[in-house]
Amino acid sequence: MNCIFCKIISEELPSHKLYKDDLVTCFLDIAPINLGHALVIPNEHHASITTVPSEILSRMMVVAPTIAQAIAREVDADGFNLHLSNGQCAGQIVLHSHLHIIPRSPTDGFSWGWRSTEYENENVKQELFNKISIRLKNKNL
Ligand code: 5GP
Ligand code: ZN
Repeated sequence: MNCIFCKIISEELPSHKLYKDDLVTCFLDIAPINLGHALVIPNEHHASITTVPSEILSRMMVVAPTIAQAIAREVDADGFNLHLSNGQCAGQIVLHSHLHIIPRSPTDGFSWGWRSTEYENENVKQELFNKISIRLKNKNL
């Protein structure tokens, strides 16, 4: 498979691996947002987080805070972002699902840039809420 992250897993491509177990691997990002920026990925290829089996998904989230703490201690960060872009329209460039660990400090000059919007009125909000809830309940995904 022509996937750079699969090649990192199989050691066809080099990386600075911080962690590896039977299900997930974590390595330093090649173009860090802040120094220490790392990626936690499933060892098996999944383009989307929605197809990652729950055991692997759990492991990604279980290992991330510990690795993030080690990174944060080392780079003197006060906190960190865990971020995942799913789908190209959401900013996913590498189509092997990955969780970003981005160490943060108040002086890092990095602005996440999320915007906020609002519902036109309460009915619009309630209708959307109802539809999503029914879809979720019926597993109509
Ligand atoms: P995305 O935008 O898909 O969420 O993030 C992909 C990330 O993978 C980027 O932060 C990018 O710097 C990183 N990346 C891309 N190619 C490589 C590579 O070959 N090695 C490593 N270590 N990171 C990579
Ligand atoms: Zn892959």
